[in-house]
Parts: sequence; structure tokens; C-alpha cells
Amino acid sequence: MKYYDCDVLVVGGGGAALRAATAARESDPGCKVFVVTKGKLGTTGTTANSCSDRMAFHATLPHTEPGGEDAWKYHADDIYRIGGRVSDYDLAAILAQNSYAAFEYLEALGVPFIKKDGKAHQFVTDGSKYARACYTGPKTAIHIEEALVRRTRQLGINVIENSMIISLQVENGQITGAFGVNEDEDMMFFNTPAVVLGTGGGGEIFSQHVYPPGATGDGYALALNAGASLVNMEFIQIGIASVKTRLNCSGSFMRAVPRFINEDGEEFLSRYFPEGTSLLDVYNIVFEKGASWPVSCEHPSSLIDIAVFKEIMKGKRVYLDFSQNPREFSFEMLNEVNRDRYASELNQPISDEQRNSGPLARLREINPDSIQWLKDNGIDLEKDEMIEIAPSAQHFQGGVKIRKQGDTEIKGLFAAGECAGGQHGANRPGGNALLDCQVFGKIAGEAAVCHARSVKMGKGAAKAVPAKDFVFEHIAGQDKDSRKDRISAVELKSEIQDIMGRYVSIVRTKEGLAKAWQSLEQLGKYHVNRDGLNIIEFYECLNLLPVAKATVKACLQRPESRGPHLYFESEDDPNPVAGNPDYEKYFVIRCQDGEITVQAREPVRPQEDRRKEI
Ligand SMILES: Cc1cc2nc3c(=O)[nH]c(=O)nc-3n(C[C@H](O)[C@H](O)[C@H](O)COP(=O)(O)OP(=O)(O)OC[C@H]3O[C@@H](n4cnc5c(N)ncnc54)[C@H](O)[C@@H]3O)c2cc1C
Repeated sequence: MKYYDCDVLVVGGGGAALRAATAARESDPGCKVFVVTKGKLGTTGTTANSCSDRMAFHATLPHTEPGGEDAWKYHADDIYRIGGRVSDYDLAAILAQNSYAAFEYLEALGVPFIKKDGKAHQFVTDGSKYARACYTGPKTAIHIEEALVRRTRQLGINVIENSMIISLQVENGQITGAFGVNEDEDMMFFNTPAVVLGTGGGGEIFSQHVYPPGATGDGYALALNAGASLVNMEFIQIGIASVKTRLNCSGSFMRAVPRFINEDGEEFLSRYFPEGTSLLDVYNIVFEKGASWPVSCEHPSSLIDIAVFKEIMKGKRVYLDFSQNPREFSFEMLNEVNRDRYASELNQPISDEQRNSGPLARLREINPDSIQWLKDNGIDLEKDEMIEIAPSAQHFQGGVKIRKQGDTEIKGLFAAGECAGGQHGANRPGGNALLDCQVFGKIAGEAAVCHARSVKMGKGAAKAVPAKDFVFEHIAGQDKDSRKDRISAVELKSEIQDIMGRYVSIVRTKEGLAKAWQSLEQLGKYHVNRDGLNIIEFYECLNLLPVAKATVKACLQRPESRGPHLYFESEDDPNPVAGNPDYEKYFVIRCQDGEITVQAREPVRPQEDRRKEI
């Protein structure tokens, strides 16, 4: 076993982890900081890989409307209020108050934010009243990752690549170490009083998602197994994306108003709208979906997600067709607000007649690059090829329950970024995830250094010893498991994804969730064979089960709809049940003696509830 002595161990190589590592080193240059990441530094995780038409970083800057010293309060209110009042308001306040400093730090590292008149240009994202989204273009996240990788190297931080942390060692409620494994199958022990989890989300519990490979929610599993809590796990952003390319079909894809057809060529959307809804209304809602990509029960465009999901559940493949107009569509059917919105996006203006000729002409008019991007990725809209779509997971709003220092209930364990929970509610206004990584990454990194220092002062630099049981269980134990029923890790993953896609995606019911729970419990009884997977892929598959179980357990607590959690009395009901004010609380999940337990808790509320004002 390889043995490392550190002050702070940072798990992950994305935006949150690297900000934690750089902050730790910057706050104490003598601090022994180690970063352990599953791939090569700068290549794995969502920050390093994700793109969309305009990727947003939310920040309240001195010139951000409405201006003044209290401008941050509107930002914090948006996170809390649009989030459905099920997050801790004080964490939202921290995000908003620290957003300017986070922006400045990135800018100083060379992230090329777009400027107009010398100031960062900002646009409005879902639900926010004021424009706060800064961007560099489609690659904002990638630019942030590149800047942080440069800084990490500049600071000489120890980076261990192609390695995975697979368990945390906790003694008397305090972190004393962590176990890892590298791709050559060497076991590693990190003797450390402080661990920051920056492991990202868990999109791979679904087969349809827009995450890069490896988003297996390892941090959620590590925290649960160590005795920490998860919160808000039922809230996952899910929206319509291309099955082949995993591209979100948001923004201009909807504003071009394509046909939604099933494999029989039927335009099915209006069947799922309330009786009497005019095509005019349907097409305006399709247009507005462009600004509201993830499903949310609070937005009428959730009917589109429901329609797509239900068609797929009937065994039909579903497509966006840009080759001809939807039935009876003409551009003038869009209301004035929508037409103005369209006009503000013109890229290569065309005549009214051309605009009316079909969705491809409109897409070319507002976003020609998207047509080229799809072509480069195997879908040629110019040749009348269609985009096959499915509801796909993009972001976990919940995660390891943190408080103001990014701290958890376990001393020395911190979390930041998508791995952390409590700062976001049911909906997450666009741009606040990238912000979150920077703000809580920095806070957690600095708090981890302080904690490591206090431990050292308390007991000297004592060496933790890896627990023998662990080594036995993980090195020898796999072959000595007495359970007879066996399943391969690949099958385990595929079963979990089938269950989650069927019962825990757009349409959630009591019955379906109960079936999902039972099936996951059953899977937990098997011995899992590695069957040719490399060691990291194998442990990733094992992590999917606790992550899926925590998600289902959380969903079962909420017999109401809120944000992306659409709860139906039965699968045949056309509409989800309404939100219930009694459920303005969150559910905290823990693992005790192998059993997952839940506790309902009151979030931290704003001192003065500004609800009436807004
Ligand atoms: C298509 C898409 C578009 C998006 N658009 C936006 C947007 O416009 N604005 C916005 O704010 N957010 C957006 N998001 C969300 C945002 O990009 C992510 O939430 C954010 O980048 C997550 O950063 P992170 O550092 O928490 O995790 P990641 O960047 O995913 O990094 C996780 C890291 O941890 C490593 N890791 C995981 N487990 C282990 C382990 N056990 N051991 C060692 N290493 C491990 C991984 O290899 C990876 O390096 C988008 C997401 C997607 C998928």
C-alpha cells in the first residue's frame, strides 16, 4: 500500500476541487495539499467537459441591476425563492455575497469573460429578474477549468492522477484518513485530518444524461458510508437532450419551434396539453421552453417534458424535426414578447417568408453554429436528419449536507460544488452551479486548512493507521464474499439505470418509487463481480447503488410537486399534484448500520421573509 502524509486531501479535479486546493495552498503556502483525481488533471468531470450554447456563471457585480449595496440580496432571494424555499437561505446569501470576489479571482487567472463597454456582459437566466449571468461563450466552464489547472500547477500542488478515493476513515467522529486506488491497482492510504469532497454529480444513475463519463456520485457514496448526511437528493435537473450527442436541446433549438414527432411521424405534443389548449398556446410554450430547459412543475413547459417521457414509455422513439413547420404553425402565432425575444437573437437575418418556411430556416437565422455543431457530431439537419431526444439528467441540486464553512457533521470533512447540498433548493437558477464551485470551493479549502492546523496543534503530527478491516474487505474480501447470488458490475449499473429512468425521471408516483426502492434493495443483496472492468470503473459501479437509493428514498418523502420533482397520483394522471406549503422543508438522509434513514428538517430561513415584496 502506498502511504501519503497530507494536511488537506482534495478529492476531485473539477471547478470546486481545484478552487479548494488553490485556496488551501494560498491561505497557507506551507500546507501539504494533495489533489486526487480520477483521470488526468483537467480532463475529467463536468467543469472540464461541458458546453452549452452560452454557459453561465452567475454573479452580482458592482454594475449588476438593481445596483446598490443590497443588490446581492436579490441574488440570494432568487436562489432561495426560485429554489422553492427548501434550501438554507444563509448559504444562498454566502453565494451571492461572494460572487463578485469569485468572478474577480477567475478574471485575474485569465478567464476571458465577454465584456461590453469595459464591463462584464450579463444576461438573464431562468426565473431571475436581473441579468447576472456572465459568460465566455459555450465553453465558460472549460475556460474556468483551464485557468484553475494553470493555477494548481503554478502553486506546485501535489496531484495524483488516474486514481480514485474509495473510502474515508473516520474515528470518533473525525476524519483520520482516506483510502484510494490507482489504475494500476495499487492501494493508497492518505493520512490526513481534512478531506474536501469536490467529486461532482451522479448523473450516471440514469442512462440518459448529459454528464461526461465518471459522474457516478462518488462523493455522495463516500459521505454516506462515512456517516455524513445528504440533503435534497430528490431534486435533479432533467431536460430534453439529444440521445446521440447528449446536447441539451434548449435555447434556440426550442425558439426555432421544431416539430415534436414520434417514430410514427405523429405530432403528439397537443395530446398531452389540457383539452381545449390551442395550437397557438402550445407553440408559444415550445418557444418559451428555450429559456426554461430543466423540467420544473412551476413552468407550463413541463407538459412538454411529460409528453416526451410518456411517449417514450409507450415504446416510441421521439424526435425533433426541423425539416418542416409544425401543423398550422406560422411565425405570427408567437406572441409579441416571444417575437421580440426572437428578434433580439437574430444572427443572419432573413425575410419574413423564409422565416415562415420552416424551423431549420429559423434555427439558421438565430444560431447557425448549432447546425454545424450537430453536423460535426453526426446529425445533419440540412439533410433532413432528425434529433432523437429523451429526458436527460444534468445537475444534482442536492448533495452532501454542508453548512457555512462547507463543513459536514464529520469533523474534518468538507464538501463543495455539485457534490455539496443545502445551498440550492428544488430549482437552481442557471449559472449558480459554476458560481457555487468557486465560492464554496474557496471557503471549504480555507476551512480545511484551519481544521488541519487545529488538529496538529492538539495532538502533534500523529500518524493515522489504515484500519485493518478496510484493507481486508477491499483487497481480499471481494473474493471471500459468501453471497451466492452474483451480478456483474456492468449488469448492476444497467439495472440501476433502467430502474431510475423508468420510475425516478420525469413522472414519479408513490407506486413507481416503491417499486424502484424494492428493486434497488434486491440489487443490494447480490455479490458484484468485476468481470473485466478496470478497478476504478468497478468502484464507480458500486457507488451507483447507494446514490440511487438515497435519491429514491428522498423522492418517497415528498408526495407533492416542487421544481423538477413531478409527483403524480398515478402514471395515467395528466398533471402532477400541486405543491404543498407543508413541504417547504428538506429531507436529510443518512446511513446508519447499513440502513438508510431520513429526517425532515426546517431550512434556515431569511430573517425577514421577502416573499410579499417579490
Ligand atoms: C451540459 C451541461 C451544461 C451546464 N451548464 C451550466 C451553466 O451554464 N451554468 C452553471 O452554473 N452550471 C452548468 N452546469 C453544471 C456545472 O457545470 C456543474 O455543476 C459543475 O461544473 C460541477 O463542478 P464540480 O467541480 O462540482 O464537479 P466536476 O467538474 O464534475 O468535477 C468532479 C471531479 O471529481 C473527480 N472525482 C469524482 N469522484 C472521484 C473520486 N472518488 N476520486 C477521485 N476523483 C473523483 C472527477 O474525475 C472530476 O475531476 C452544466 C452541466 C452540464 C452537464
